[in-house]
Amino acid sequence: MPHRPTQQDGASDPRRHLPSVSDLLEQEAVQALVAEHSRPLALDAIHGALERYRKTLTSTGAPPDLEAVTATVVESLRRNEHDRIRPVVNATGVILHTGLGRAVLPQRAVDALAWANRCVNLQIDLDTGERGKRNYMTEQLLCKLTGAEAAMVVNNNAGATLLILAALCEGKEVIVSRGQLIEIGGSYRLPDCVHQSGAILVEVGTTNKTHLRDYERALTENTGAILRVNPSNYRVIGFSQQVPLADLVTLKEKQDVLVIDDLGCGALVNLEEHGLPHEPTAPDSIAAGADLCCFSGDKMIGGPQAGIIVGREELVSKIRRHPLTRMLRVGKLTDLALEHTLRMFLAPERLLEEHPTLRMIATPAKDLKRAAQRLKRRIDREGLPVDATVAEGESTTGGGSLPAVPIPTYVVNVAPHNLSAQELAGRLRQHDTPVIARIRDDQVALDVRTLMPGDDSIIVAALRACAGREERA
Ligand SMILES: *Cc1c(COP(=O)(O)O)cnc(C)c1O
Repeated sequence: MPHRPTQQDGASDPRRHLPSVSDLLEQEAVQALVAEHSRPLALDAIHGALERYRKTLTSTGAPPDLEAVTATVVESLRRNEHDRIRPVVNATGVILHTGLGRAVLPQRAVDALAWANRCVNLQIDLDTGERGKRNYMTEQLLCKLTGAEAAMVVNNNAGATLLILAALCEGKEVIVSRGQLIEIGGSYRLPDCVHQSGAILVEVGTTNKTHLRDYERALTENTGAILRVNPSNYRVIGFSQQVPLADLVTLKEKQDVLVIDDLGCGALVNLEEHGLPHEPTAPDSIAAGADLCCFSGDKMIGGPQAGIIVGREELVSKIRRHPLTRMLRVGKLTDLALEHTLRMFLAPERLLEEHPTLRMIATPAKDLKRAAQRLKRRIDREGLPVDATVAEGESTTGGGSLPAVPIPTYVVNVAPHNLSAQELAGRLRQHDTPVIARIRDDQVALDVRTLMPGDDSIIVAALRACAGREERA
């Protein structure tokens, strides 16, 4: 029974008859919240719920009873906790999904992270006991894998680009093709990066075409570098042309300028071997004569977020001395995960089995067709009010790599009987282990390319909880 104020209470405003914080704290359900989530979080939920009641109750309405307020508190804490970072099922078919944390780390990298519950020799020389070199092994591996003289690791590729330009081109002109003045998600814009570094941006060519002579004409006494940028997340197709890196390098004979290659996704292996279009690799850039190149750790390398710089020793040493280096340095978690991801590239024959990003990219569509059929049969067996069908679809690498290059895949399209696809997709995102899917033709499309082992069972359980019951006629 709701507690209704009586005349004797002397106050008719229901807002004055809400349960007190201490009443609520005594409730069994709230005590359970305290035990599970801590007292401060339970108190936040209580204060939040009471605050909402005070705002929404009118002076003439009936106050809610203790049970109703308790239920609101429980629900509000559950909802707050929902935003907590935790595993989700990526059924989007976007392999490097920025919203889902980009690359899925290889198990070897995750195993290495477990050492973080102890001290590690991050920056100590074990021979002398003196201060040692940070990221030493990771940098050695990067040199070995790219053929570069030197390497360094910073927080992300945006930081790597900024650092290179700040350390080597401050006050100098940096020439960039107009077709490469990119914006990447999360408001990274190359022109801003150049300005921020203190370098002077010199744009050459047109949006669709830039020639070697455009660069050549732009060279001045104050030119610091030619910056090539991989237009990672879009393509200009049709009447278009960009100058190959090897041609840009020939300009070094005319004038002493640096050629810097911002590769973006930084593939270390040739993806053409897996039927994918050519994507510039870091070893190619170094071999073609780039002085420096930079790329992300969590795109094609499939490791943790990081920015990697490789190139000439003399230049890397100069960069290391710049104050921004300290501000952009990575911690032990990044170093551990990156080192152990890179090690896998020393045994390329096992890469496709053990490296989730490359496995997802390379799995042939025919294998995915079988996987999709398996998932469909499991959904069918549940007898849920949905129709599941297997269809061809398109995955993408995402994360600013191989744009406009759809990878043929298979999806299980789920059409719910009693709700819209939008509603079902929304409920799937609210599941304990959220399932993130795309919507296509008013169906929830589950792309099997980006699923991890065990995800089928989670999807089936989520559908069981979310699709509702079959309505009896
Ligand atoms: C992705 C990308 C960046 C930004 O890299 P982050 O590691 O996300 O900072 C910069 N330049 C290019 C060409 C990219 O593709």
